[in-house]
Amino acid sequence: MKQTYGHKLKNICCRLLLAICFVAFQCFSFSSEAFANINSLRIGQGVGNIRLVFDSTSSFDYKVFLLSDPKRLIIDTQNVKVNPKIVNQLNQNTFLSNPRLGTVGVDDVRIAFNLKKPVIIKKAFLLPPQSSFGWRFVIDLELVSEREFSSRLGSSHALTNDNYKESKVAEKASKQKQYIKENTNQKKIIVLDPGHGGHDPGAIGYSGVYEKNITLAMSKELKALLDKTGKYKVYLTRSTDKFIPLRDRIKIARRYNADLFMSIHADSAKNRSAKGLSVYTLSETASDKEAAALAERENKADVISGLDLGQHSKEVSDVLINLAQRETMNRSSEFAGFMVQEMKKKVKLVSNTHRFAGFAVLKGPDVPAVLLEIGYLSNRQEEKQLQQKSYRKKLGEATVKAIDRYFDNMQHASVF
Ligand SMILES: [Zn+2]
Repeated sequence: MKQTYGHKLKNICCRLLLAICFVAFQCFSFSSEAFANINSLRIGQGVGNIRLVFDSTSSFDYKVFLLSDPKRLIIDTQNVKVNPKIVNQLNQNTFLSNPRLGTVGVDDVRIAFNLKKPVIIKKAFLLPPQSSFGWRFVIDLELVSEREFSSRLGSSHALTNDNYKESKVAEKASKQKQYIKENTNQKKIIVLDPGHGGHDPGAIGYSGVYEKNITLAMSKELKALLDKTGKYKVYLTRSTDKFIPLRDRIKIARRYNADLFMSIHADSAKNRSAKGLSVYTLSETASDKEAAALAERENKADVISGLDLGQHSKEVSDVLINLAQRETMNRSSEFAGFMVQEMKKKVKLVSNTHRFAGFAVLKGPDVPAVLLEIGYLSNRQEEKQLQQKSYRKKLGEATVKAIDRYFDNMQHASVF
């Protein structure tokens, strides 16, 4: 009984989540192109072959290819909305496992499956509506030797439809970037993300100060300082006391085509003498126990709203991590390095200042991102300092120097 109730609840949560995602998507979408809706997946299996049939409301552009380590079937689609329930329509399959959805480029949907056996893609094609069927997207796979599988890897062996343009994703992204750049005179785009907000206060300080208020004040101070340089276009994920789910914070960064995303938080510890500042970047495993515990605390922000976004975003974020370019992670680390150097000159840092942890908010695939813990609100002295504008300004000035160094360094790197 309990399970049934749990399932129902989960179902309701999923639907609510979908509705929220849909609304968020509509809000951030730059254009309102017509989308094909993929609503279901059917699978037919023979001895050495398998057919996947996706039911769709209209035709769309696609690209299907294979990847290794682990073996994967990747389906990139353009102008498509995929009903997330299709990932549940893969039962006890001997070829495929772990279906998941993610995004690639700006807003194209990637459907990924793990392959239990080596296969090749024999055919991929669209069938127009016929009798009781609507549009169908069909993929035929054939069981082959490991060797043959290895010879068909990567996008050079991809099957696409005629309209699929390899550059479409990049083109779209660069068009958006162009649009923003033209309106900002080539200024670098920085998205600042004040942690928590609304019904989620974040950490509560020694004398009851809310983290959400400190992070907002710090972000506004930093924006003012960055604006003053004239070199940056700065956006905040929130400028008022409102709750924004973690995934939407990433979406905002991507919609603005951020060159740098910085999430700002203040920590709290049982040990009231703990103090200092630290900079975190993304990694699949946390660098130490404290970093792991902190990541867990921060990621819980979404659970508080009553919707377990964390659970849902696990599938999505796994794909995002897969898509994350090494380069983005390296850039985040590089920036964190500058931050530590500049902050060292101004304030106390915790030992091991640059740490790695799995923060949901840092999981944008194509935006270098760091999370800054500006101090411990549980420490009486730091709580007091963080409430002072002059102290926040000091932190802000050091951050601006680090940002300057990071972009200068990148410019030099691209010359050679
Ligand atoms: Zn926080």
